Amino acid sequence: MKIARTVADLRIVSDWQRSGQTVALVPTMGALHAGHLSLVGRARALCDRVIVTLFVNPRQFDRPEDLGKYPRSEERDSAMLEPCGVDLLFAPPPEEIYPAGFATTVSVAGLTSGMCGDFRPGHFDGMATIVTKLFLMSRAERAFFGEKDWQQLQIVRRLVQDLNIPIEITGCPTVREPDGLAMSSRNERLSPGDRSIAPALFAALTHAAKRLQAGEEIEDILFAARKQITDAGFDRVEYLELRHHTTLEPLQHIGEPARLLAAAWLGPVRLIDNVPV
Ligand code: AMP
Repeated sequence: MKIARTVADLRIVSDWQRSGQTVALVPTMGALHAGHLSLVGRARALCDRVIVTLFVNPRQFDRPEDLGKYPRSEERDSAMLEPCGVDLLFAPPPEEIYPAGFATTVSVAGLTSGMCGDFRPGHFDGMATIVTKLFLMSRAERAFFGEKDWQQLQIVRRLVQDLNIPIEITGCPTVREPDGLAMSSRNERLSPGDRSIAPALFAALTHAAKRLQAGEEIEDILFAARKQITDAGFDRVEYLELRHHTTLEPLQHIGEPARLLAAAWLGPVRLIDNVPV
């Protein structure tokens, strides 16, 4: 596995493509876990070459303390990726991505309002900008994103379509701990007590999804799910919403494919999760 620090180092991708090889991109912010590795595994299975990017993107953090505390472990990440058949790890310094004078923002309307878009101002603009840059810098044919960040996945699909970026987006299922907690780099920051409470988020979503499918009253179910999460010990539920699975429009009744999405705070840690309905 080669390590690239500059955009110029990515020129090797053209050599691969000239010889007819397909190239996959797996964008990450590092602090890797089995969820990230599942994306790498899927990329490895579907493409000839795999690029993993490791960049803690300052522009997508709405709170400076979250950026400061975000776990960074390049050596460990690189050791985890080596046996996975990754060809290139792109881990640039911030000034390579945002040189002096950088002035462009990619902003997707509609899908970015509501849920994480409302509670994390600027987050999706920062994400859309870095993802667009990574697509254009790498010129990969295919990119892999986790369903854990469901709203993000729909936004990425939209921007690729709107900007005619020649890349195919593949969504990959959420990888969970045995007790149901969605794997996340932020789980490392949970205290042992909070770690035992954390699976309640997924449990409440799963229970609510079953009740929704059984045709019970939506408002009652959403209210009960919020209560189940706070009763379990979460400090507060930021949002818990039923949305159309791709347009993310709020839904008043069950019938169309839907997703139940939530964010909740446990001590200083914000966890998100979602399930199909
Ligand atoms: P991050 O490093 O948190 O920005 O995540 C990088 C990519 O990994 C994103 O596409 C995430 O959706 C995906 N991802 C994060 N956690 C999981 C998980 N538990 N299962 C599947 N994909 C995940």
